[in-house]
Amino acid sequence: MAVSKYYPAEAIERAYKAGQRVFAESRPQDFAAKVEILPKDIEWHFIGHLQTNKLKLVLPYASLVQSVDTRHLLDEIEKWGKANDHITDILLEIHIGAEQTKQGFAEEEALEILFNADKFPHVRFRGLMAMATNTDDESVIDADFARIDTFMAYVKDLFPELEAFDQLSIGMSGDYKIALRHGATMVRIGTAIFAE
Ligand SMILES: *Cc1c(COP(=O)(O)O)cnc(C)c1O
Repeated sequence: MAVSKYYPAEAIERAYKAGQRVFAESRPQDFAAKVEILPKDIEWHFIGHLQTNKLKLVLPYASLVQSVDTRHLLDEIEKWGKANDHITDILLEIHIGAEQTKQGFAEEEALEILFNADKFPHVRFRGLMAMATNTDDESVIDADFARIDTFMAYVKDLFPELEAFDQLSIGMSGDYKIALRHGATMVRIGTAIFAE
């Protein structure tokens, strides 16, 4: 998908005219504003930090929320979905990089949630999202993506009842080629499409 978060609507329109239909934003206000003015057949994903008081800007329009990174956020998405009769497709963001500051669940936390998936009838678990360590050392990135690839296979094995759990979102402009060797079903490309 094309990550359009830093770019104006005109840039998105150019990509749209070239055939791109899936775009991702990371700020709720920008997301809502762009959804409003851009063509209706665009598939919008949300990939940023989502505060629970901003759900109404995002959930009605996002075909996939990729950045679910806390239990609190998941609980609030479920609550919002129940109140608004809406099922939200989500990815669980998994912390794989070396940086302590990176967001996301530890693998055990994700498993704990998935064991309780039936407590979230308004959430459809579609898979995992992760960011590799921010480094030029390809062997480190390779190891990060290998780990999430293995974890994805483990989860699919463990929870065959989660039939829609088929998406592994890994890889950005700098590392998507490595991600493609490790089972990526989608890559999130910003600067390589839109330029710096
Ligand atoms: C910004 C962003 C991207 C795109 O990064 P590029 O290096 O510009 O391709 C991908 N994923 C997430 C979660 C982002 O925030």
